[in-house]
Amino acid sequence: MDKYRLICPKCGKTYGKYDMVCPTDGTFLRSEYSKSKFEPCDLPGIWKFYNWLPVEGIIKKGTGKTLTYKSEKLAEKVGLENLYISFNGYWPEKGAFMRTCSFKDLESYPTMQRVIEQEERSTMVVASAGNTARAFAHVSSITDLPLLLVVPENAIEKLWIPAGSTSSICVAAVQGDYYDAISIASEITEREGFVPEGGARNVARRDGMGTVMLDATLTMKHLPDHYFQAVGSGTGGIAAWEAAMRLKEDGRYGDKLPQLHLAQNLPCAPLIQLHGGVAVDPRCPEGMYDTVLFNRKPPYAVGGGVRDALEATEGDLYGITNEEAEEARLLFEELEGIDIMNSAAVATAALIKAVRNAKVSRSDLIMLNITGGGVKRALNELATIMLVPDLVVSPDDSEAPANIIQKTEDKFE
Ligand SMILES: *Cc1c(COP(=O)(O)O)cnc(C)c1O
Repeated sequence: MDKYRLICPKCGKTYGKYDMVCPTDGTFLRSEYSKSKFEPCDLPGIWKFYNWLPVEGIIKKGTGKTLTYKSEKLAEKVGLENLYISFNGYWPEKGAFMRTCSFKDLESYPTMQRVIEQEERSTMVVASAGNTARAFAHVSSITDLPLLLVVPENAIEKLWIPAGSTSSICVAAVQGDYYDAISIASEITEREGFVPEGGARNVARRDGMGTVMLDATLTMKHLPDHYFQAVGSGTGGIAAWEAAMRLKEDGRYGDKLPQLHLAQNLPCAPLIQLHGGVAVDPRCPEGMYDTVLFNRKPPYAVGGGVRDALEATEGDLYGITNEEAEEARLLFEELEGIDIMNSAAVATAALIKAVRNAKVSRSDLIMLNITGGGVKRALNELATIMLVPDLVVSPDDSEAPANIIQKTEDKFE
C-alpha cells in the first residue's frame, strides 16, 4: 500500500500525488496516510513526523523542529493553568534549532523533498518578502536544488540565511512591491522547467506546518482545547485543523477538535474583512506591526480553506492593534526569556484578549504557536550571509520575466 494518497475531502476522489486542488471546484486536496495511528519516528528534526508527511525520503540536514513546553511565568501572569508554548525558532539551550527562525522551515523541507522525488528536475520559484524566502533559500543552500527567488527590492536587506553555498539560488529583485514580485513570478512558473511552491494548496506546506500540532499533542498527551496563532494566509490554521483531525481519528488524544483562535493585525486584516465584512484600509500594509501577516488574497472561501477550518472548530478571529502586540511582545520576552518575531507577539496578544473576554477558561488546555523567534540569538551566535540580487528588473518592463529566466538558466547551467 502507498504511504499516502491525495483525496478531495468534498467529492472523495483520489488524485495524483503532486496535484493540488480538485478540478471540480478548486477544493484543496488533502493527504490521507495509510498509517492512521500517530507514530513518531526516530529521525532528526521534523522527520520525527515522517509518517504523516507527504514525502518518501528525507533531507537529513533539514533538521529544525518545534519545541513544545509548558509555560510557567506567562501562564501565571495571564492566569492559565495549562498553557503550552510551541516555539518555532532558535533557542539552543532548549533544543530548538530552526535555522531561519520561523515555522516556514517546516514547509520548505518537505516541499523541497517532493521536488527531489519528482522525475523532472525543475527550478522552484518563490515570491516572498520575508520568512518564506529565507526558509526556501536555506533549504536550497543545503540541498543544492535550484531556487529562483523573486523579491521586492526593498526586502533584499531582510534576506539573511545561515552561512553556506548560494550557488543554487538565483535572486531577482523587482523595483516594486510584493504584488509586482508575485505577478512576475507567476508568469515565470507558466514556463517549462519552473514550478511554483504552491502556497496553501501545497499539501507538503500544510502537513509540514501541521507538525506543530503533532509536536504539541505529543508533549501534552492530548489534543489542546484551544490553538492560538497569528495568520496572514491562514495556512497554519488550516494545517493545525487538518493535523488535529488525524489525531482525533487516532482516538488516543481526545475526541474534540481544538478551537482555532487566529489573529491578525488591525487595521490590515483581510481575513477579518472577509469573515465579517469590515473594510481594509487601502493604505495597507503600510504601518503594520508585521507585514508577514498581510495577504491580499487569503484562501478563505475555497473548500478546505480558512472558513471551513473556523466552522469545523467553532473558531474565532482576533484583531490586534500594534500597541497590543508590542505590549504582548515585551511581556512574553520578559517572562519566557527569548525574543520572538512580531507576528508571534500578535498571537500572544490574542491569547491575552481571549482570557480577558472569557473565551477560554483558566484550566483549559491551551496551545500558543510562537511561529517565529530567537532571531536576535541566531544573528549573534550563528554565521549568516546576506543574499544579493543576481539581477534587478522593473515591473513595467514586459521583458522582465524573460530576462529573469535567461539569468536563471545561465546561472544554473
Ligand atoms: C508566515 C508566518 C505567519 C503566518 O502564517 P500563515 O501562513 O498565515 O499561517 C505567522 N508567523 C510567522 C513568523 C510567519 O513567518
